[in-house]
Amino acid sequence: MTASLDAFSTPMMRQYAGLKREYPDAILFFRCGDFYETYAEDAEEAGRLLNIIVTRKGMGKDGDVAMAGVPYHAAEGYIAKLVRAGKRVAVAEQTEDPKQAKGLVRREVMRVVTPGTATDEALLEDKANNYLVALCPIKAKGSSTPVWGVAVADVSTGFFALSETSADDAQGRLLNELERLEAKEILLPDDAEAPFLEPLFLERNLTVSNRPRDDFRPEPARQLLLDHFRVQSLEGYGAEDLTAGIAAAGALLRYLKQTQRSAIAHIADLRVHFAQGSMVLDAVTQRSLELVRGLQHESREGTLLSVIDRTQTPMGGRMMRAWLLQPLCNQSDIESRLEAVGDFVDHLNLRTVVGEALRGVRDLERIVGRASIGNAGPRDLGTLREGLRRLPALKQALASSKSNLLKDLSSRIDPLDDLADTLAEALVEEPPTTLSGGQVIREGFSPDLDEIKFTARNSKDWIAQFRAREAQRVGAEKLKVGFNKVFGYYIELTKAQLRAIGGEPPEGYIRKQTIANGERFITQELKEKEDIILHAEDRIAALEAQLFDELRRRVADRAVDVLRDAEIVAQIDCLRSLAETAISGRYVRPQINDDGLIEILDGRHPVLEAIQTDPPFVANDVMLSPDDCQVALITGPNMAGKSTYIRQAALLTLMAHMGSFVPARSANIALVDRIFTRVGAHDALVRGQSTFLVEMTETANILRNATSRSLVILDEIGRGTSTYDGLSIAWAVCEYLYNTPGQRAKTLFATHYHELTALEAAMPRLRNFHVAVLEEKQRIVFLYKLIPGPADESYGIHAAEFAGVPAPVVHRAWEILGRLEAGEAVAPRVGEVGEESEAKAMTAKKKASILPKADPWSDRQLSLFDTAPPNPAVERLKLVDPNRLTPLEALAVLAELKKISETRN
Ligand code: ADP
Ligand code: MG
Repeated sequence: MTASLDAFSTPMMRQYAGLKREYPDAILFFRCGDFYETYAEDAEEAGRLLNIIVTRKGMGKDGDVAMAGVPYHAAEGYIAKLVRAGKRVAVAEQTEDPKQAKGLVRREVMRVVTPGTATDEALLEDKANNYLVALCPIKAKGSSTPVWGVAVADVSTGFFALSETSADDAQGRLLNELERLEAKEILLPDDAEAPFLEPLFLERNLTVSNRPRDDFRPEPARQLLLDHFRVQSLEGYGAEDLTAGIAAAGALLRYLKQTQRSAIAHIADLRVHFAQGSMVLDAVTQRSLELVRGLQHESREGTLLSVIDRTQTPMGGRMMRAWLLQPLCNQSDIESRLEAVGDFVDHLNLRTVVGEALRGVRDLERIVGRASIGNAGPRDLGTLREGLRRLPALKQALASSKSNLLKDLSSRIDPLDDLADTLAEALVEEPPTTLSGGQVIREGFSPDLDEIKFTARNSKDWIAQFRAREAQRVGAEKLKVGFNKVFGYYIELTKAQLRAIGGEPPEGYIRKQTIANGERFITQELKEKEDIILHAEDRIAALEAQLFDELRRRVADRAVDVLRDAEIVAQIDCLRSLAETAISGRYVRPQINDDGLIEILDGRHPVLEAIQTDPPFVANDVMLSPDDCQVALITGPNMAGKSTYIRQAALLTLMAHMGSFVPARSANIALVDRIFTRVGAHDALVRGQSTFLVEMTETANILRNATSRSLVILDEIGRGTSTYDGLSIAWAVCEYLYNTPGQRAKTLFATHYHELTALEAAMPRLRNFHVAVLEEKQRIVFLYKLIPGPADESYGIHAAEFAGVPAPVVHRAWEILGRLEAGEAVAPRVGEVGEESEAKAMTAKKKASILPKADPWSDRQLSLFDTAPPNPAVERLKLVDPNRLTPLEALAVLAELKKISETRN
């Protein structure tokens, strides 16, 4: 490209080449009149990605280059398309009036739009942040592993944070963070290697921008931060010693300044260690629990977020997402959120008033972001004004709340009256999206503007009067006065009208143009007035633009204050949203304990319950405790509901940690430091690794990092390899989690390896459970009820029988099973199947009955038992440990027993 740029030799093409050299890695949009043009390789690329025609343009003595152009008024759409495809676009504007320019019009790149720095609405998702991340590995002397500096910004909302990590698993942590953030663009020093990022590139559209290593030099980076935040040291932020973090943040800030070409004053706060104080959810867990993205498809459908998010503002939506991916781990923080949610749940009136106020608040963060960058439009400021107007109501509604958190939020709301008043005085009631000839500024705000408008309006009246006067004078009633860009105002007479007045133009008419059906004229008088009118309109446009710009600056000056309010509004929105969800889903407030107990009565899977109607969802209990049931081993046939059950336990635990109510009859949930999952075989193939290898990598991560305070969800580990391999691994993993001091994580282990159920005999803290199924005539009925005890292992043979496998095969299978269970050798059989062996097989079958070993205590299934089943009330009682129950829980159990007794009679 650089070589061919030298061949650009007309003055304009030389100007182009100069700009292109400054932005070699961007597609350069070069403004020419009413078009943005792209040339050479840029044009080929734009042509392909935008599906527009590529032509040729002369570039000087050496011939021509490819050219593709888009009309300026449609440019945003085209830019958005390129950026969504992961490209950067540099936009060069004409920065002087072509009419006034001597020779070549001056042009400058006014902004660079990239995936991670977009601020335009068309490029942003309302309820998701648009993160740009800078990574900077720095090797300390004498150390073999680098310290990774990380900086994160969302220029559309003003978020800016830095952090660093030198942990052994630094790369894994970075991946987790990038997954959580769904970063759109990553900045790396051009000499850094980061192959560990590859899975991210494969899984989603992510732009990597290599920046000069110089941008990451710690000292200049620090200076840039000091200058930007106007401080003497970074100590106040707690960032002074984070050299690698500072390096990353400096490079990121420099990039923002280059791309935005503005002061980005709304980036006014620097946060450090942005993920601290929250539970760690590794990338695998985020995905496999389908928190914000589905496993099968990328969409948000069927995710926990889609079920619980009822926020009404975009910043609330973004915060809800952040809460979900960064659950709290401090008990009192969780309790204050729960208390606030509870307050909303209990008070319909509060919910309604706050809901109404929130409905009028739009994306304060992004509006202020656009105002700071200089591309907020009139409608943006109108929307901001509407938002500010709602703040007093919000403040007042929450002032007397019982929740300390809500009271505190209320007291921190600053309605910014002065700004709201200015906007109210300056802007018309419903401002248009763009500046347009005098439609934006309210009458009475600027005497100058009003005066020019008055003149202009008068002149228009004058034109109407002039027309009427001329029509009468000339004697052509339908005489027209029109306007076009070439001659300005003119009088038009049709041929018929001309004939009617004698064929000659009236006195004083100067002929300007002959058209198909008549002639156009001007008069001295008309031209004089035209001058005033046109001038007035230009002046109106110029003055309005100037006034609006001042207004925009006023907003930008208050960016920090508006952002503070926006953050408070987002919190209120989230808390209220959690209450709405709790009410419509009949959720309960969880108790939080620090004793390692997870006791959920009649828990439900929040997503499945919301989307599945048939069969109706069956609730289940979870009872985990460090001394009694640290590991729950769940067996049961395929499709019985094992995976659903263990995910449900994880989801409810997570929800409680974010301060949400949970779908259950009651829940007492232990504080956990991490939730780990190894769930199902998700589509690991895109990563180019075998499923089994991925499974083992994930398992390794769990075993290395789990603590006694963690919750571990293991689903069918070992499935990806041969039976004995898989069983051996599953067995050893189970023992490890059970035995290793300090790592005895609460574990829910779903497995199809029936052999593992033998562990219970030797491990008092491990309990067997299974999901009940019933054999009914020729089919299996799934009851979805979790019951103590191991599943029947011979289910497979029953299934084979139902599926129509010939009787001799089924009989022989029973026989082999019987021998294997008895530890006898099985000899291959050759010859016909005899009567005698069939009888033996039937005895084996009877021994291994498929009926559940305990009665599910749900009312729905009871009628399915026609033989005398064990008494469900008794079974339920067996699970109760009176020493552990709070009085309230005891009452709940009593109520439950009562219910069981009623359904049985
Ligand atoms: P498994 O892991 O044992 O093979 P899953 O947990 O994947 O079984 O469940 C299979 C299907 O059974 C689910 O897709 C769901 O439709 C249904 N299911 C699971 N649990 C329940 C439940 N508690 N109530 C109602 N339906 C359920
Ligand atoms: Mg499963």
